[in-house]
Amino acid sequence: MTDSTNSIRDDRHHTPRAVAETPTPDEEAFAAQLLERIMRDVPSDDDIAAVQRQLGRYPRGMVAVGRRCDVCGTPLVTVTRPLVDGKVPFPTTFYLCGTAAVRAASRLEAQGVMAQYTQLVHDDAKISAAYHRAHRLYLAFRHALAVRLGDTEEHIESVSAGGLPTRVKCLHALIGQSLVMGPGANPIGDMALERMKDEFSPSVCRCHADNADNADNAGSVVNANSTGEEQ
Ligand SMILES: [Zn+2]
Repeated sequence: MTDSTNSIRDDRHHTPRAVAETPTPDEEAFAAQLLERIMRDVPSDDDIAAVQRQLGRYPRGMVAVGRRCDVCGTPLVTVTRPLVDGKVPFPTTFYLCGTAAVRAASRLEAQGVMAQYTQLVHDDAKISAAYHRAHRLYLAFRHALAVRLGDTEEHIESVSAGGLPTRVKCLHALIGQSLVMGPGANPIGDMALERMKDEFSPSVCRCHADNADNADNAGSVVNANSTGEEQ
């Protein structure tokens, strides 16, 4: 099994720049409530094993399951602590791991939608405002998690994920946030989910079909994983 250090370093390599924005009290309250609920979903050994199969590496620093398949309960998004193993800063708190979801997101990225979405964020004031709010919600959640676990955010302060709050750089990360935080939290993640609903939806179980698929299509799995690790 590949050591996870490499993929964690990849994450750091893809870290977007810091954009300091202060969450409002309402945003902080939303994040705190969500954290309370999510931290009760402690990953079981079976969850860890499932995510290890999905990612092809041991999910170090995974402290909760952020979202499960509505039908069978397979993890779709992990919640990773801000400082893995007490030394590796990890900004991508919500990590998309569901195989069908990762593959559908990679396919959308390959179609070039990120440039369209970035343009949309640039041109549409309403979407831009919502995208900035998504950034603040992300930071608020991670900060609450950091406080709860005693992790420092020294190296990832004001850094969220996916290109937030001005660009669209990784759909996996944005979709991960949408799946954990629900509709309305991240407008681009919501749009991407809507666009890929025939290939992936949390309410339609493709988890086991995926496993069979993986054995038959090793090439596409490698592809999906390598893209997934760039979240
Ligand atoms: Zn399922």
